[in-house]
Order: sequence, then structure tokens, then C-alpha cells
Amino acid sequence: MAGTRSGPGSPETSDRGGLTGVLVPVGPLELSVEEVRQLWSFIHGDIMDGSMRRLLRASLGLCPRHTWAYAVVEVELWQAGAGSRGGHQPFDVTILYEDLLEHVADGLDRKTSLLHRHPDDVLLPVGPCRICEDMASPDLPGLRMGYANSNTEALTVEANGLVHTTVWCRETLPLWRGRVCPGCDPGTPEGAGDPVLFCRFHLAARRPLPEQLRHAVAARLREIRGRMRHLTDSMTDYGAPVGSEENTSWIEAIGFFAGWGLPLYLAAAATDAGPEPDTTETGRRN
Ligand SMILES: [Zn+2]
Ligand SMILES: [Zn+2]
Repeated sequence: MAGTRSGPGSPETSDRGGLTGVLVPVGPLELSVEEVRQLWSFIHGDIMDGSMRRLLRASLGLCPRHTWAYAVVEVELWQAGAGSRGGHQPFDVTILYEDLLEHVADGLDRKTSLLHRHPDDVLLPVGPCRICEDMASPDLPGLRMGYANSNTEALTVEANGLVHTTVWCRETLPLWRGRVCPGCDPGTPEGAGDPVLFCRFHLAARRPLPEQLRHAVAARLREIRGRMRHLTDSMTDYGAPVGSEENTSWIEAIGFFAGWGLPLYLAAAATDAGPEPDTTETGRRN
């Protein structure tokens, strides 16, 4: 694996300030064959049909580990597509997170009323991560025999290489580094940093949020979503090419929903390895 566990991105969690349960997954993810199989079928499933969309809104997507894993599996394993990169792009990811950003921004902007939940309750997931749920299913051992063939094992090795994810994170590092959640960032002194940049976990830990902060976070999420729409379009046959602000948008969106563990890990590994992306992992693809 490229890099080491030393450096600022290395702690197992960014659970500081007594925020018990605020776990930020830290790379390398080391996904299991079964996780890759589940996520690959999730990507190819009807994730945006009406009932699935409602479930994913309620649960705010997946747990932090599987949110990053979902992006990694799509970015690493998507071989051919429209747009300048011709694959290795987070296409399903941006479609899902456009929807979830809008859902959370709308919730945060709602007026307080006696009839509804408090506006910042939108930050609290209802329902489990469906990948965790499927992994825990008692039916799984039988399925595993049938589906986890050698192809999935090869795909797992490829996904765990993090080659394309690393390139995305390092190319866009100058833009996203100043937008990391202060609660997730080990470089930020406790209590410092702009609360508007908090991820959903660090925001939720500070409920009830002042009204001004709620609206400022909603505006930030809509701004990310605006850039991400252009990125989604750029991955289709008719979309215009985009620049680094758009290329950074999905990392910011996922940072909000899953914490910043993986980009911080990859940035720390980049510091260890020098400025160029480490390409030694490409050998895994043969
Ligand atoms: Zn999960
Ligand atoms: Zn955070």
C-alpha cells in the first residue's frame, strides 16, 4: 500500500472533543471481496428509483466507510465512459449526492414549526447503512458462495489500489484542503475553524444549530451541488469539460456526508511519497 499510517491523517478516527461515535474512516480502506461485490451491485442497481431514493434520503446515504467505498469502487472500476477521463469518474456518486445535498439543504432551510421535526433533525440518519445491513444478513453465506468469484476478487485488488481516487484527491488538494471540516481535521486546534465547514457528524453534535448557521450551511451545500451538476454533465456525451472547482465538488460533498478521513489520508500519503502520485499500485491491474 502506498504511504504509511504516520502523519496527520493517521488517527483511526477524528473523534475529538468527546463526540463519541463520530468516526471518520481512514484509508487504506482494504475493502473485502464481499464489500466490493455489494457495492458493485449497488452501483448497477436502481439506486435512484422512488423507494430507494426515499430510503437513501432517510439514511443520508451509507455509513462513512461505505460512502467512501462506494465512490472508490465506482472511480477505480469504471473502465470506459464519456468525458475527458473516459471512465474512472464518480458518475453514480454525483447523481446520488446531488439529491442528498438538496435534501439536507432544504431541511436546514425550513422554518421552525410545532408541526414538523426541528430543521436540524435532517442531519440525523433514520435507518441503517444498507451495505452494512446486507453484509450482516444471515442469507449472505449462501450468496457469497455463488457470487464472490475470481472476477470479484480481482476487482477487489484493483479497488484497494486506490490509484484513480488518489489522482483525483491529489489533483484537487489545493482547492479542498481549506474546506475540510475543522472537526475532522487533526491540524485544526479544538474549537477553532469555521463551523460552516463542519461535516454532518460534527454539525449534528452541535445541535440545536443557530438559525444563521443552518442557512449558511445550506447555502454552502447548494453551492457544492451547483458545481457537481456541471461535473455530472461533463461525464455524459453532451456535457462541456469542467475545471478543478467542479472536479473538487464530489470530494467536498462526500466529505460532508462521510467525514474527511480518506482524502486526509491520501494527502498525508502524498506528503510522505513526494508531490507525484504514487503509481506503483498500477502493477495490481495486470
Ligand atoms: Zn456501511
Ligand atoms: Zn467532521
